[in-house]
Amino acid sequence: MSRIQPPARVRGTQDIFRGEQRRFARVLDAFDRVRRLYCFERIEIPVFEDTQVFARSIGETTDVVSKEMYSFPDKGGDMLTLRPEFTAGIARAYISNGWQQYAPLKLVTSGAVFRYERPQKGRYRQFHQIDAEILGAPEPAADVELLTLADQLLHELGIAEGVTLKLNTLGDAETREAWRAALVAHFDAHRGELSEDSLTRLEKNPLRILDSKDPRDRPIADSAPDIDAYLTAEARAFFDAVTAGLDAAGVKWERDARLVRGLDYYRHTAFEFVTDRLGAQGTVLAGGRYDGLVESLGGPATAGVGWAAGVERLAMLLEDADELPVRIAVVADVADLEKEATRVARLLRSADIVTDRSFRGNAKKQTETAKKRGLDGVLFIRQGVSRYYLQQLSARFDRDEYVRDKLLPILGEFEGEGASPL
Ligand code: ATP
Ligand code: MG
Repeated sequence: MSRIQPPARVRGTQDIFRGEQRRFARVLDAFDRVRRLYCFERIEIPVFEDTQVFARSIGETTDVVSKEMYSFPDKGGDMLTLRPEFTAGIARAYISNGWQQYAPLKLVTSGAVFRYERPQKGRYRQFHQIDAEILGAPEPAADVELLTLADQLLHELGIAEGVTLKLNTLGDAETREAWRAALVAHFDAHRGELSEDSLTRLEKNPLRILDSKDPRDRPIADSAPDIDAYLTAEARAFFDAVTAGLDAAGVKWERDARLVRGLDYYRHTAFEFVTDRLGAQGTVLAGGRYDGLVESLGGPATAGVGWAAGVERLAMLLEDADELPVRIAVVADVADLEKEATRVARLLRSADIVTDRSFRGNAKKQTETAKKRGLDGVLFIRQGVSRYYLQQLSARFDRDEYVRDKLLPILGEFEGEGASPL
């Protein structure tokens, strides 16, 4: 008889459970709380788009488009791609729905994104991002707003200490052209020492060489000319306004003149929040200004600035603090009181008391189950005068206080019973 081989989890995907899931959820909860504080609206966009949405906006020469996209024809023959990031889909939605009428628009979203990468710690093929964007605001104050939001999020998660904001400017179009020419001249003079990847980048996207992780490229990238000598007065004023705004908001930052972004359309501000606590996967949050992107998709000229952060990478930085509330089980002393226990459980839950129920066995068995599940107490439903009894299972709460403040107001009300027996 042949046994069925169970299907394996697909390489680079994850099943997120228990402590890991709780850290993951804390990132999303904090993000939702902070985005409300900053008056950002949440949107939902499709998991897949026409391949052109990503190919045209992210840029054909980037790693994401040239190597990492999950693209496939659907049954009707349309070429689709699972979103490798959110910005392009948001720009597409902005155009599709005529959202320029609402500009400037402050948006967030979050969810799964997909990239065909070599899986390792902190790097998956299906991972999750939180994403914040401001569309239709060319002002440096928009960059400040987004970076302040990111900074507050890291503080609320309790991880701001180990994370540094690295900031750079890529200038305006004129600046970028002049700097690009200087970079090409520099890299051309060191052709023989560059990696094969960087020789390709030299033809297509020389700025990306600055970002190379190949040790052969590092000395040449590090000795390349800075953008500063090429900044126009406007580009310098823009960057100065961003840094002055960050200082006013109390956001700590460091200049990193080597920082460039993968997307072709980045202008002015580029930034990354990095940590040394995650080894090679040290970038937890990254973004910048992309004023040309909406236009590159055929939309109206629209300024844009945004960032995305890896939920898994942020979650990995969190302390495993136990954030669970006090949880109690409702257990009937005898089978006859099972229905009453069900009724009480419903009542407690309606009053926001975290309550568990067991599905099997007598009172003793159910109490054992409650212990095994790590619950903090058992509320017994009994026959006779002392209808309720709370047995404490953990030292995480004060029993008398819990009874007085949480249980009596609810149970006392419908049973008309005094405080004593509980
Ligand atoms: P990296 O240099 O690590 O490949 P990236 O520049 O490709 O990052 P972005 O496109 O800016 O990353 O994505 C934003 C964030 O998403 C990153 O800062 C990181 O936290 C996270 N991230 C990117 N790729 C992965 C992945 N394969 N698995 C998990 N998280 C990822
Ligand atoms: Mg990448």
